[in-house]
Amino acid sequence: MSATVIDGFAVAASVRAQVAESVAALREKGTHACLAVVLVGEDPASVSYVTGKAKALAEVGMLDRSVHLPADAAESELLALVASLNADPGVHGILVQLPLPKHINEAKVIMAIDPAKDVDGFHPVSVGNMVIGRPGFLPCTPHGVMVLLRRAGIETNGKHAVVVGRSNIVGKPVAILLAARQANATVTVCHTGTKDLASFTRQADILVAAAGKPRMITADMIKPGAAVIDVGVNRVEDPTAKKGFRLVGDVDFAPACEVASFITPVPRGVGPMTIAMLMENTLLAARRAAGEA
Ligand code: NDP
Repeated sequence: MSATVIDGFAVAASVRAQVAESVAALREKGTHACLAVVLVGEDPASVSYVTGKAKALAEVGMLDRSVHLPADAAESELLALVASLNADPGVHGILVQLPLPKHINEAKVIMAIDPAKDVDGFHPVSVGNMVIGRPGFLPCTPHGVMVLLRRAGIETNGKHAVVVGRSNIVGKPVAILLAARQANATVTVCHTGTKDLASFTRQADILVAAAGKPRMITADMIKPGAAVIDVGVNRVEDPTAKKGFRLVGDVDFAPACEVASFITPVPRGVGPMTIAMLMENTLLAARRAAGEA
């Protein structure tokens, strides 16, 4: 068997194209969708994520009101900035890039964002709405996983989904969305306390790997014909690569392709969906502000 490789890059491009059309239509009615990304400091990974977001904003035709604060900015300065963005009717979405420098309390900052502008979906109000199935904002990576499954035509109804990882930003919300009535899967969540991980992963019709451990899911841990979604993004040393490293997922990709029916690659799998869903959430926030949703 050779798995169908799900092209997350192409799916994300098509989501962005749809968002761009809706942004233009909303603009004709007088609302120009706008996102403010707040970056504190110079963490290279964060700088690169923020650059990707700016590029996507330009591509979909949204306004970019991003702010870059120095690494030593006070927590009070960041909270005051969030308050001013909350109060600004021209800003529809606010995203504070994580992680924040150690002297700033992340939870306090996330809690300060107006839930109506919480396009990252990390505010407890957004999390609560997701859990009870009320409208809000879904977190971008888990939502991207669900859209990839849907677009690839992978049936979730009545299937057994196994999620490896229980973080607040990936594993836990993916499990909640898979178990929701719309997806209707039966879900098992695995973590470092799970004994005999392979005995669970081998039962998965849908396996979502979100542990952040390079190639930990080997082919023998996958049920033949399973759909495998690899959320992991891990740097491994590679002297042949220009930067001295390359990115791999949590799944041992090539051997897994021989067992799975569908699989997402790393890169160009789940990764590009995260920014595409952020664009979709910002559009939704702008439509709600305009009374259209
Ligand atoms: P965290 O480190 O916060 O969480 C990892 C989870 O995996 C934890 O729940 C941990 O268990 C579990 N875990 C770790 N090792 C094992 C193991 N050996 N067996 C079973 N469970 C294990 O990571 P994130 O959730 O933030 O991210 C996960 C991966 O996804 C990372 O590679 C990250 O880079 C990537 N990512 C990709 C995104 C994208 O856009 N594609 C976005 C966000 C993340 P425990 O709770 O017991 O510690």
